Amino acid sequence: MEGPREQVTENDIIRIDDLPIRDELKGKSPYGAPQLDVPVQLNTNENPYPLPEPLVARIAERVAEAARGLNRYPDRDAVELRTELAAYLTRTGGHRVGVENVWAANGSNEVLQQLLQTFGGPGRTAIGFEPSYSMHALIARGTGTGWISGPRNDDFTIDVEAAVQAIAENAPDVVFVTSPNNPTGTAVEADTVLALYEAAQAAKPSMVVVDEAYVEFSHRESLLPLLEGRPHLVVSRTMSKAFGAAGLRLGYLAAHPAVVDAVQLVRLPYHLSAVTQATALAALEHTDTLLGYVEQLKAERDRLVTELRAIGYEVTESDANFVQFGRFDGAEGSHEAWRKILDRGVLVRDNGVPGWLRVTAGTPEENDAFLDAVRELMKEQER
Ligand SMILES: *Cc1c(COP(=O)(O)O)cnc(C)c1O
Repeated sequence: MEGPREQVTENDIIRIDDLPIRDELKGKSPYGAPQLDVPVQLNTNENPYPLPEPLVARIAERVAEAARGLNRYPDRDAVELRTELAAYLTRTGGHRVGVENVWAANGSNEVLQQLLQTFGGPGRTAIGFEPSYSMHALIARGTGTGWISGPRNDDFTIDVEAAVQAIAENAPDVVFVTSPNNPTGTAVEADTVLALYEAAQAAKPSMVVVDEAYVEFSHRESLLPLLEGRPHLVVSRTMSKAFGAAGLRLGYLAAHPAVVDAVQLVRLPYHLSAVTQATALAALEHTDTLLGYVEQLKAERDRLVTELRAIGYEVTESDANFVQFGRFDGAEGSHEAWRKILDRGVLVRDNGVPGWLRVTAGTPEENDAFLDAVRELMKEQER
C-alpha cells in the first residue's frame, strides 16, 4: 500500500505552455462554445428534435447485430455505408454519385482534417473567406498548414474579385468555401465557386473544398453537380445538422475517386467503428422522416428572420438552420446583448463577429422564448 499523497505544491502545477508543445499551439485555447445549463439552448446549430422512436429502435437492432462481430475490426473502407451515402446524395443532390466518389469519417471535421493532412501540411497554406467556420483555421493549425484569411463584402457575401485576387496572390494549396456559410447563413452562388475554382487552378493548381454542412436547409440546390469534370473540387457533408445526429459523429465527402483514394493515405486504420457505421446506416433508412423535420426548421428559420426584422433588428439573409442578427455596438455591444439574452434564460452564440449574434432555429416554443427575450432587449435599448 502507498502512503498518503503529499500535498500538491506550487511547483507541481504544470501548465500546457510549460510542456514541450509545438510553437504554434502555445497560448491557444481549444475550440468550444460555452455550454451553459439554461432552459433554451440555441447556440450550436443542432437539430432540436430527438430522433424518432422507430429509428431509435432500428439503431438498437443494427447496433446489436454489429456487437456480435465486435471481436473483429470494422469494414475499413465502410463500403455499405458509403454506398448508402452515395444513394442519398444521388437522390437529393441533383448529381449521380457512386460509392467510389464518397468517403466517410467521424464527423465532417475529421473529413476536413484528412483533407488538410493530404493536401495541406507544413510549408503549405489554406485560405477561407471570413467570418466563416472557425474550425477550418483551427484544423489548418493542427495539421501545420498556414492559414490565410480572405475577405468578404459588408453583407457577408464573398467578394468574388477580391477573393480571386487573394487566391492569385497567395496561391494557397486548399481553398475553403462554406455554403451556406457559418455563422452568417449566406449561401454561395455556383458562379462564385466556379470563379474561385478557376483562379485556384490557374494559381497552383489547388483543391477547393465546399463545406455544405447546412445545405439541406438551403433555399438553393446543392453545389454537388459542379463536381462533374472538376477533379480538384470536394463537397463535404455531415449528419450532424439536418439529420439531427450530432452525437453520432458522421461526416462524409463527395469528390473524384482519386481524392477518395488520396485521403486513405492519411486515415487511421479502422477509423470508423462498426457501431458508428451501423448507427449511420440505420439513420439513412429513415432519411425521409429526418428530412421532414428539416422542412419544419426551415419554416421556423424564416419565421425568426421575419420576426427579428419586425422587432427592428438587422438580419443577414439565411440559407441555414440559424440566423445572424444585430446590429449591436461592436464586439462589446454584441457581447453585452449575448449576456442580457442569457439572463432571460436563452443561450445564443457570440461568434466574435463584431456587432452580430447567431441564433439556431429551435422548436417553436424555444424560438418564442428567444423572440420574447430579444423583444425585451430592444425595448430596453429604446428606453
Ligand atoms: C457544424 C459544422 C460542421 C460539422 O462538423 P461535424 O464534425 O460533422 O459535426 C462542419 N462544417 C461547418 C461549417 C459546420 O458549421
